[in-house]
Amino acid sequence: MTKPKITVIGSVNLDMVTSTERVPNQGETLTGQSFEMIPGGKGANQAVAAARLGADVHFIGRVGDDPFGEILLKNLTENGIHVDGVEPVTGEHSGIATIIVSDRDNRIIYTPGANNLVTPEYVEHFLPIIDQSDYVVLQLEIPMETVEYVTGYCYENGIKVILNPAPIQPLSETVQKQATYITPNESEVVGVNASTEQLIVTLGKDGVKYYQDGEERIVPAYTVEAVDTTGAGDTFNGALAVGLAKGWSLEKAIKYGNAAAALSVQKFGAQDGIPTVAEVEQFLQ
Ligand code: ATP
Repeated sequence: MTKPKITVIGSVNLDMVTSTERVPNQGETLTGQSFEMIPGGKGANQAVAAARLGADVHFIGRVGDDPFGEILLKNLTENGIHVDGVEPVTGEHSGIATIIVSDRDNRIIYTPGANNLVTPEYVEHFLPIIDQSDYVVLQLEIPMETVEYVTGYCYENGIKVILNPAPIQPLSETVQKQATYITPNESEVVGVNASTEQLIVTLGKDGVKYYQDGEERIVPAYTVEAVDTTGAGDTFNGALAVGLAKGWSLEKAIKYGNAAAALSVQKFGAQDGIPTVAEVEQFLQ
């Protein structure tokens, strides 16, 4: 069987993850429990999820010309992702996410760096990659004009798009009309007024809400012991793309996404927790 072809266009960051018992108050310094540098970024996480789940994945994005950029590129390659769409930016730093994990919750500051240079003109160089995709996956950690350009191009050329509207930002009417599916979480759904048939809303431990034939449906999450929910949404989106690109029903693809995300929340770190296809199959047995 040929692998589904997925192109992820988005951010690639180094997550600087500090664990602490509680979040510091203003002006307060706390001693943290641990620190780790972990490759992340919503785009890269979703690409890794799709690749570990068996898709043929191309990534279009940018890193800085710093040591972090080399780490990030190596990580994508080690996950079997094609990086012909990733070019380092001279004189710019790689994207950095500063993450505080405390009490099973997380707080994030994101500094885009090279991700801001994933412009429409940059992506235009890689249209042949987009043209051969079953699904294109987008998030909002790259310039909005790029998201609009790609969504418009895919709409005109009959290529399906999953738009994960995170972090929350206003979306144009056109983008909302042109994206095949839009996948906000509960807090991101406020800005979205796409048709219900396009909407797939993740509800954390309550699962996923979607609509079929005008009726609201819930696919429940799996009950697991969550230790770190960072990247649960990214794992879900990558897995959803794989299921849909395989031609599965929306319900089956969402179930698969829930299973992959349930496995991811049981491990620390966004990408470390992303399961392989074998792990998801075993979990679903
Ligand atoms: P993040 O921003 O942390 O990546 P998100 O807010 O975008 O996540 P959520 O709605 O929290 O996304 O979670 C996405 C999916 O992950 C859920 O729909 C569910 O399938 C799974 N999930 C999240 N939290 C849990 C949990 N505690 N137990 C089981 N599954 C979970």
